[in-house]
Amino acid sequence: MTKANVIEHVIYGYDAGASDNRSDVFNPATGEVSAQLVLGGEQEVNLAVAAAKDAFPAWAATPPHVRARVLFQLRDLIERDLDRLAGIITAEHGKVHSDAKGEVIRGLEVVEFACGIPQMMKGEYSQQVGNGIDAVSFRQPLGVVAGITPFNFPAMVPMWMFPVALACGNCFILKPSERDPSLANEIADLLAKAGLPDGVFQVVHGGKPVVDAILDHPDIEAVSFVGSTPIAEYVYRRGSSAGKRVQALGGAKNHMVIMPDADLDKAVDALMGAAYGSAGERCMAISVAVPVGKETADALVARLATKVRTLKVGAGTDDEAEMGPLITREHAEKVLGYVDIGVSEGADLVVDGRGLKIQGYENGFFVGGSLFDNVTPDMRIYKEEIFGPVLSVVRTESFEAALDLVNAHEFGNGTSIFTRDGDTAQAFMGQVRVGMVGVNVPIPVPMAFHSFGGWKRSLFGDHHMHGPEGVRFYTRLKAATLRWPKGIREGAEFVMPTLK
Ligand code: NAD
Repeated sequence: MTKANVIEHVIYGYDAGASDNRSDVFNPATGEVSAQLVLGGEQEVNLAVAAAKDAFPAWAATPPHVRARVLFQLRDLIERDLDRLAGIITAEHGKVHSDAKGEVIRGLEVVEFACGIPQMMKGEYSQQVGNGIDAVSFRQPLGVVAGITPFNFPAMVPMWMFPVALACGNCFILKPSERDPSLANEIADLLAKAGLPDGVFQVVHGGKPVVDAILDHPDIEAVSFVGSTPIAEYVYRRGSSAGKRVQALGGAKNHMVIMPDADLDKAVDALMGAAYGSAGERCMAISVAVPVGKETADALVARLATKVRTLKVGAGTDDEAEMGPLITREHAEKVLGYVDIGVSEGADLVVDGRGLKIQGYENGFFVGGSLFDNVTPDMRIYKEEIFGPVLSVVRTESFEAALDLVNAHEFGNGTSIFTRDGDTAQAFMGQVRVGMVGVNVPIPVPMAFHSFGGWKRSLFGDHHMHGPEGVRFYTRLKAATLRWPKGIREGAEFVMPTLK
């Protein structure tokens, strides 16, 4: 392995040395090792926090519009390098190139939102709240904050976090997924080129030891996490009991309800993209289709089956491919294991994605699209997040039954309804216990100037990410009451001050 294939931390003033604590990074399409990642621990976290603490006072004191200029520069650099960055994602994650570009663009939108930070950080001023007294409230950065991110969006999920955190005046330490870590270093490089001062953004690579060191470090004020539910809950509990602000986004099982009056062709197309795009490795993927009524269900399954059978699976670099491989061999095996479980639980396997081999990529981590019909709520394939190209159809008799089904699930990330009826759509939007809802939109990911987050066991903590909620998460509110010397009362006062 040459030096060029070793991915190291980006810690200001840190000489990487020759740590042999490393893990392999794979190209999921070929199954080959493409690089080795240097894994850090408490020592690297301590160094990064020390550098960030040094950088914080000057960065926090930089006027917001001057901080925003760095993000304007970053925006241009990402746009310039869009193809190259998408190529890196495809090589390490496996998703098709056009989809990789899409994730960078969705992340870029958060950078664009953060460019407007002077407007978002504007405070409030009340004049004459008492005689000669004014009141003001305003937001200040927290200090050193950290982000821990999953493999499935190596560009977009870090970009949900750091643009807002930096724009608000914080220093940010990123701990990306060990499985596709290169994008994090590319981001650090582009931020440096954009003019970000040293130490304001750093990357510490690794697994649990780095995460634990972040959660326990007394000088890290806040932690943003995105990943699976058990780890999200762990991060939330450990981080918040150490006194930190924590937002921890977890797993999902997103349902799409198809009403009898829906445009079925459009619903089927929407389901195909939402269930099988990015090989189902999206936290907003639809993994459960809920047709209402037998007629709708029969027609839906028939049309879906034809399309799933002809799904074009291939390497992410193949322009014709609609879906690439899964992230690792272990994950592909886990997903295949769920197909076996579904069969043994008695669901009808309409399309079987097992045993797929792609010519020229025989060692890749590919799983074909699978479709189950007559799935019931007691089955594991319904209850658990599979995170692969497996769609379950759960048949229901009425809108109320469909709504109850969605509401009873432990996850509440995203959901959607396909209908032409405004009343039905409104009732669904109002009554469903899920954080993000689509009406004739299969994957209702909010725009950057709104905020992203689920309900129930899909989010631990109070704040959603980016948009106004992101600004609230990365800032602390302060209120000041101002009296100018002329208005100061004579003598000491021993009673609770009231303003006359
Ligand atoms: P993961 O939970 O395995 O890993 C996420 C992060 O946690 C990684 O940085 C990883 O290094 C770290 N980690 C893993 N095990 C740990 C442990 N035992 N202790 C401490 N840290 C640990 O998730 P993943 O497989 O990378 O990503 C897929 C999951 O992320 C899915 O469940 C998906 O639904 C979820 N996800 C959720 C959202 C959302 O917005 N809710 C978005 C994207 C992904």
